[in-house]
Amino acid sequence: MRFGELELISLTDGFFRLDGGAMFGVVPKPLWEKRTPADDKNRITLGLRPLVVRSADKTMIIDAGIGDKMDAKSIAIYGIERSRNLDHALADAGLDAGSIDIVLASHLHFDHAGGFTKRDAAGTLAPRFPRARYVARTAEWEDATHPHERNRASYLQENFVPLMDAGVLDLVPDDAVIMPSVRVVRTGGHTMHHQIVLIESADRTAVFAADLIPTTAHIDVPWIMGYDLYPMDTLAFKRTFIRAAIEREYLIFFEHDPVVAAGYIREKDGRKYVEPATIDNP
Ligand SMILES: [Zn+2]
Repeated sequence: MRFGELELISLTDGFFRLDGGAMFGVVPKPLWEKRTPADDKNRITLGLRPLVVRSADKTMIIDAGIGDKMDAKSIAIYGIERSRNLDHALADAGLDAGSIDIVLASHLHFDHAGGFTKRDAAGTLAPRFPRARYVARTAEWEDATHPHERNRASYLQENFVPLMDAGVLDLVPDDAVIMPSVRVVRTGGHTMHHQIVLIESADRTAVFAADLIPTTAHIDVPWIMGYDLYPMDTLAFKRTFIRAAIEREYLIFFEHDPVVAAGYIREKDGRKYVEPATIDNP
C-alpha cells in the first residue's frame, strides 16, 4: 500500500489463540462471543501482523510476530499455527530478513518480540534480522528484563537479551521520531511503557495500534484486555485516541485481528465499526 512517500506492507506470522475472557476483560462472554467465537477451550483466534514501513532508503519492521522458538507445550497452549509465517510473508513482499534495517518494538511481550531472535543450527540464540538495528523503549526494556510474577510469562528473555549481547539494540527513552515520518507515542496501559507507532505522510496518518486496540472487536472504549497491567491508563488513552481516529480518519493497523489487517474506525448512530482498508500487497 502506498502511503504518501512511504510503502506500508502488512505481514503475517500466522495465528495463535488466547483465552477469550482474558482478551475482553470485564466484557461478559454473551457479548464478546458474538464478535469473536471461542473454541472448546474458550480460546479465540488471533492474528500476528507485523508491519513493514519502507522509504526510499530504509526498511523498517514493527514487531516481528511470535517466532519459532516455542516448545511443543507452549505451541499447544497458545494454539500457534504458523504454516504461513513471517518468512513466507517477507518473501511474498520481495523481502527477506536481510532486507530489514530497523526492527521497532511496540513492547517486548512474546507475541510481538518472539521473532526478534532465532536459534542457529548449533542452538545459539542470535538476532533474526542480521543487518538490523533493534529499537525498544528504555523503560520497557527495564521492565522486560526485571519481570515480576504477573508479567514473567509474557517477557521471555530469549527474545530480547541476545540483542543486547550482540550490540544491536538501541534504547529510546521518550516519544521520538524513529525514521522520517514515523514516530512512537507511549500509551501505557497494556504495559507501563507500551507504545504505538504513528506514520504521517502527505497529510494522512496511519497508526500501528499494537495492543492498544488489538483487534477490530476492541474498538469500543471499555473493551480492554484483562492482560492490561494498568487498564485505567488504557481507558484514558483509548478514549482520546479513538475520538481522534474517527475525526481524522486514521488508517489503523490491527496487529492481532485474525481477518482485518487495517481499516478506518467509523461511527454511525452512536455505534462504532471498522471499514476495512483495501490492501493490495505484492
Ligand atoms: Zn499482543
